[in-house]
Amino acid sequence: MTVAQQHPYQWLEQALATIQRAHWQRTLKPITSPPGPVVTVGEQRVLNFASNDYLGLAGDERLVQAATQAMQRYGVGATGSRLLSGHRDLHRELERTVAQWKGTEDALVFSSGYAACLGTVVALVGRPDAIFQDAYNHSCLQQGAKLSQAQVYAYRHNDLAHLQELLQTHRPDHRRALITTESLFSMDGDCCPLPELLDLAERWGCMVLVDEAHGNGVFGEQGAGWVQATGCQDRPLVQVGNFSKALGSMGGYVAGRHALIAYLRHRAPTWVYSTGLSIPDTAAALTAIGILKQEPQRQAQLWRNIHDLRAQLTQAGLPLLSAVPSPIVCLPLRDTETAAQLEPALLQAGVLAGVVRPPTVPTSRLRLSVTSSHTHDHLAELVRVLAQFSGVYG
Ligand SMILES: *Cc1c(COP(=O)(O)O)cnc(C)c1O
Repeated sequence: MTVAQQHPYQWLEQALATIQRAHWQRTLKPITSPPGPVVTVGEQRVLNFASNDYLGLAGDERLVQAATQAMQRYGVGATGSRLLSGHRDLHRELERTVAQWKGTEDALVFSSGYAACLGTVVALVGRPDAIFQDAYNHSCLQQGAKLSQAQVYAYRHNDLAHLQELLQTHRPDHRRALITTESLFSMDGDCCPLPELLDLAERWGCMVLVDEAHGNGVFGEQGAGWVQATGCQDRPLVQVGNFSKALGSMGGYVAGRHALIAYLRHRAPTWVYSTGLSIPDTAAALTAIGILKQEPQRQAQLWRNIHDLRAQLTQAGLPLLSAVPSPIVCLPLRDTETAAQLEPALLQAGVLAGVVRPPTVPTSRLRLSVTSSHTHDHLAELVRVLAQFSGVYG
């Protein structure tokens, strides 16, 4: 067959068949109720352990009100890039609020956390430079690294001895260097050793980007994140995060020095060439940060629930992937095939929880996320259901 005779899209069916054979196919589950610890999937009411709404803010009436009022004043869409028609005083207010919350000189708001990470990495390094990244980093950091054309060195997850080795070998060959890490790792639920990582970075003349997507609202005073909780807010850092998890809205940000923010306004492609964050998302994010400051009881309840769930799981003899308590609680699974069957089986039993499989992660696991709005009874019911599937854990 000549090239012209081949159907140019034929390969898609073959690729999908491969995905199915490997038990990697994904399905979408429509949720038909407001967000919360109990949601409706289709017609069925289920316990929700799959959401990133750690502080129960996504359905909060105050966020809905703020978004509604802002839309009545400004409309829905920002209508253009912030540099052209897309800039509103609300965006600037959100940036000032983020900077104050994070204790940095300034901040820049992006349309998603993904865009913030990708655009920042691309702006900070190029072909003559190096990126040293944790092997478990989120897709947005890994894709940003590829797109930047810098030389990429991955160190074993949270292994600073390995990072040190790579720095020793490769740092001298490059102009600038950037170390990238998540604060709370989204797939394992453990945290990066930030103070020690910053010591290494200082010794080797590296910038450090830390992604607080899952750390915000969970760690630190006023939920200001892992950087604050580890006393690193005054150290040289590029802090990235989003409003789409504990803050219940949408959008991303970078926080840091004046020069960093001013530079990104010129050079981050996902900011310069993308429409400003929508009006309701911006207003809701602003309100959410205010609530974090005023209602520390949400964070306190989240932590009570984390300890409660871990204790109940241990009591039931179920294995935990990480020894570190966090709202992301993972149970290792024996193999990919059982993993694929577990998610629908749990749903049938009234529990919505994510099963994460390779290639997203190296080993299959059941991933539960706890929020402040779960009750002791919700957690007890979850553990009762999980204990019925005793053969699947590894
Ligand atoms: C969710 C997530 C992002 C992406 O944020 P969005 O606002 O959903 O685009 C980036 N980094 C990490 C570590 C995340 O978990």
